[in-house]
Amino acid sequence: MISYELTEGNTSLIKQDKPPSDLAEGYAKVKVAGCGLCHTDLSFIFGGVQTKKRLPLVLGHEISGIVTEGTHEGKKVIIPAVIPCGTCEACGCGNPRICFHQIMPGNDIDGGFAEFIDVPERELVLLPDELDEESLARHSVIADAVTTPLQAIHNLQLKAGDLAILIGCGGVGGFAALLALSYGATVIALDIDDEKLKKLNRHGVQHSLNIKGMEGRKIKAQIRDLCKSESYPMFAHKIFEMSGTPQGQEMAFSLINHGASVATVGFTMDKVQVRLSNLMAFDARIIGNWGADPRIYPEAVQIAAKGDLRLEEFTELYPLAQINQVIDKARSGQLKSRAVLVP
Ligand SMILES: [Zn+2]
Ligand SMILES: [Zn+2]
Repeated sequence: MISYELTEGNTSLIKQDKPPSDLAEGYAKVKVAGCGLCHTDLSFIFGGVQTKKRLPLVLGHEISGIVTEGTHEGKKVIIPAVIPCGTCEACGCGNPRICFHQIMPGNDIDGGFAEFIDVPERELVLLPDELDEESLARHSVIADAVTTPLQAIHNLQLKAGDLAILIGCGGVGGFAALLALSYGATVIALDIDDEKLKKLNRHGVQHSLNIKGMEGRKIKAQIRDLCKSESYPMFAHKIFEMSGTPQGQEMAFSLINHGASVATVGFTMDKVQVRLSNLMAFDARIIGNWGADPRIYPEAVQIAAKGDLRLEEFTELYPLAQINQVIDKARSGQLKSRAVLVP
């Protein structure tokens, strides 16, 4: 069985060919159809972020495939990026996202940059049988790039007519925009890459703004003017920070208005300086989410089935053998959409 392992930080993944393992109790063996490359994988390789299981480890946590052993044998599935145990106190309280015994493929156990993966079968998300191979591979991104912003949308209670302001419109941000549109919100996309913004406009995003070098105050004024002229809501904006940069986070905070809510989706180790009391003064809130509750995955699958996720335009498929080249492309910002590795 071919897999690509991280053996130490700051190096290429190493190709391995090992005999398949025996399946543990409660696990399913899944033949990987596709595995998305996430910013988190890059953080494990180059960012000094430690994986929970010690190296060597197969990375990759955005996985779709076909079950070859287990209860759902023959079924097409998505493997949730964070698999809760279902029995601990946190799971019992209805918040599986903070499960004490959660398992994340490519972090706690070997992940999806491989031909096969063994995963707990409890939370597998079943897909329609009629999906073709290519479409099944593209559905892998639902495991994180789609469901993580969808969870943020749930947390901010986004609804039709709301104004959603998106900061950072790459992989996850692109799907956040499409999801917000699917919910009937008006979207203002902020990024520093014209090409990404234009692509979102082509897919229905109403407004985009290249904020490269722009002062925070000016951005805020432009958004305010836009809301006035278009009769958009002037308060309670729903702000999604997905750049995972201190600049983006400061921007998100500065855009808070009365009743606003901010979702922290992007990750950075850097710190920002903010006046936290603004939350009190504006009756505003900031919410983070670690992945998504597996119970919202079927909704994401339905949104994909409607065509609202535009998976063909927002994912690009590469042979798994090219993984190290794709990682280089991701690092140098050459990827136009979410990369999916296909064994
Ligand atoms: Zn991820
Ligand atoms: Zn649990």
